Amino acid sequence: MHDLQDYDSHGKQSEVVPRDVHVYYCLNHLFCEPQTIMHSIKMAFAAVLFLLCTFNAQAQQAISFDPLTAETETYLKALAGEGGIGVRKAGTESEVQAANFIQSTLESFGYSVERQAFAYVNRDTKVNESSQNIIAHKAGKTDKYIILGAHYDSTSEELGSLGAIDNAASIAVLLSVAKIVSELDTQEYGVKFIAFGAEEVGLVGAFEYVDNMSDVQKQNARGMINLDGIVGSDNLYIHSAHSTPYACKGNAENYRFDGSLRDRLMAVATKVTPANTFKIHPGFEGYPSGETGGWSDHAPFACAGIAIGNFESTNFSINGESGRDGYSQSTHPSLWTCFDEANMGPCDRETEKKWGKIWHTGNDRLDVIESLFPGRVRQQLSHNLGVLRAFFVHLDSNLHDSQK
Ligand SMILES: [Zn+2]
Repeated sequence: MHDLQDYDSHGKQSEVVPRDVHVYYCLNHLFCEPQTIMHSIKMAFAAVLFLLCTFNAQAQQAISFDPLTAETETYLKALAGEGGIGVRKAGTESEVQAANFIQSTLESFGYSVERQAFAYVNRDTKVNESSQNIIAHKAGKTDKYIILGAHYDSTSEELGSLGAIDNAASIAVLLSVAKIVSELDTQEYGVKFIAFGAEEVGLVGAFEYVDNMSDVQKQNARGMINLDGIVGSDNLYIHSAHSTPYACKGNAENYRFDGSLRDRLMAVATKVTPANTFKIHPGFEGYPSGETGGWSDHAPFACAGIAIGNFESTNFSINGESGRDGYSQSTHPSLWTCFDEANMGPCDRETEKKWGKIWHTGNDRLDVIESLFPGRVRQQLSHNLGVLRAFFVHLDSNLHDSQK
């Protein structure tokens, strides 16, 4: 039943009639009629009705997705699909094109958008480059606010990646959440939406944003939710920062490890998605349960003393290259030289070449992912949207201190 549930505009579930019940009902009604001279006509009629019922049941299945899922897919395709912007390497013109697309989409929802431009030296090539963060703000009744962030640059283009999973899908979800929030009444907490540039070359955009925050802005930030690689892999997770401080460019004195935002998001996820859709990853060496490393845009915020929640799609039950570390994202046999299901790892650690990886590989494209996992991206976009919709629609109560 769980995959037949629907999110209404307030993030609550409503049930629809399961497809098999519909079809069964139609068949029963027709074939229990007494036989008459009109039998053959009735049989034809039955066939038409059967098709109609099946179609109806399919339509009912379709509405089990969050109402904004189809629109979210159009953003994803505009960024990473065929005929879309495609590769969005940091510091390039196509990264600027993606920034322009994000800015104009946010403006179409009524936001006045801030463009935070910055220059940096590429850590790999030592070349001077420039990029930009795109920021939209929904003011609250107070100065307190929460941040929803995701990076829009991509990497590994030389391998064929179009950065669909990493990280166009997250930007697509961020845009849809921004649309939802733009239509809400003002709540106590404001919301800042930030699309970060130049993440793949050292979290440059996120550090730039945090370095320009005043102390008051840092104090008023109630949390930062980061979306990175949120669809495409076997499972969905929500993490907190690590209990051991990140490197923080050598300045970790304000570092904050705080699982409360993760736990609040998980509480919402448990309510609005089928059981066990979102998971807390089990602990493994160096990574206690539910905690993540400093490899994405949440890190500079944790370093600045702000609680973080990080959404990620991967598979922590795979025994990958360095253990159950989340780098192997799927058990799909096409993503392995040879996968041993009984041991949830490679058949042979010496000869394994692929390790179940999607991001930063030629597999990070919508055509590849759709052929490996038909319908998965759509379903996972919907699950992420469902959780964030429910979280932001009731932002004040979800962030209320009594929930700690
Ligand atoms: Zn990423």
